Amino acid sequence: MKSKVYFIPAGNADDIQVINDKLKILLDESRVFDFISKTDKAAVKVHFGEEGNTGFVRPEHLRVICDEIAGRGASAFLSDANTLYRGRRLNSCDHLKLAYEHGFTKEITGVDVIIPDDAKKENVAAIEINQRYIKSAKLARIFVEADALVAVSHFKGHILTGFGGALKNIGMGCASREGKLAQHCDVAPVVHSDRCIGCGECEIICPAGAIHLENKKSIVDSSKCIGCASCLAVCPTMAMFIDFNAGDKVQYKMVEYSLAVLKGRKNKTGFINFAVKINKECDCWGMENPRIAPDVGILASNDPVSIDKASLDLVNKSCGKDIFKATHPEGNGLRQLEYAQDIGLGSLDYDLIEL
Ligand code: SF4
Ligand code: SF4
Repeated sequence: MKSKVYFIPAGNADDIQVINDKLKILLDESRVFDFISKTDKAAVKVHFGEEGNTGFVRPEHLRVICDEIAGRGASAFLSDANTLYRGRRLNSCDHLKLAYEHGFTKEITGVDVIIPDDAKKENVAAIEINQRYIKSAKLARIFVEADALVAVSHFKGHILTGFGGALKNIGMGCASREGKLAQHCDVAPVVHSDRCIGCGECEIICPAGAIHLENKKSIVDSSKCIGCASCLAVCPTMAMFIDFNAGDKVQYKMVEYSLAVLKGRKNKTGFINFAVKINKECDCWGMENPRIAPDVGILASNDPVSIDKASLDLVNKSCGKDIFKATHPEGNGLRQLEYAQDIGLGSLDYDLIEL
């Protein structure tokens, strides 16, 4: 069955206020937040952006979304789970500070940021799903216990998953550290020494301290590797290799984690994708990275598969080619969408309603 995806175009020249005005129209016309009831406590899942990255959805846009939720008599808070890798989002204290530095203050968004410490067992919930790869998903409890979930996602490229949108935001993003490791654990790169020139870029970027140089050649300690694939992206000679079948497995696991996030409450979730500032890599990168497509617009839906497929189609149409495949030839993002449909997360068929 086709799902509805609402879309309002936006262009590179649109400033924050123009995008906010369009977002308001999108929320009013689409009614994708009709599932929110009075007294609901709604978790708004966002990505606050790694230090040095500005691709994340602007806090001013979160204000519009949280005001819409408040207007329905519910209360909202912003949240994300901590990361696997070294950086400013590794623990709750640093993560919160970075969120404020990036402008996610109560003055701007109107709501609190809550990031529980998922190193504490009481903040992790095990959700039984009994799927092919994941039997029991380990999620940040805050997302499981919220009455409603709104996922606000920046649509962009990703080295392992081809692209990142709503499914990645909830499947990877709502997972506890243990859950993130379970999704990445099959991906450890190997170094082709004949290609390695000993530049050390991989050692610098590795967030897990898994790489060191010996005799000007890179060595990966697979027991420390968390499978983030950052070393592949920085290597100037393509000396780093991973088994991209394992990369596909990350996508399948991520989709199964999405199923866990939505378990028992598919009718209590809404998705907003910002297909603007479409970068080559995800917002976890602690640096700016090149834009690969023009701004396309904002999408809203209650179906995470449809909204990601529609985002993908719109961005590719604007580029006149499959820009994600061109940018990351090995990372086939369609796999996550097809598998998500297979396990009942949503539909690849959608009706696009342009506003
Ligand atoms: S994939 Fe590469 S950069 Fe990432 S943790 Fe493993 S060795 Fe380090
Ligand atoms: S980035 Fe590539 S070339 Fe440079 S040290 Fe690492 S593996 Fe070798």
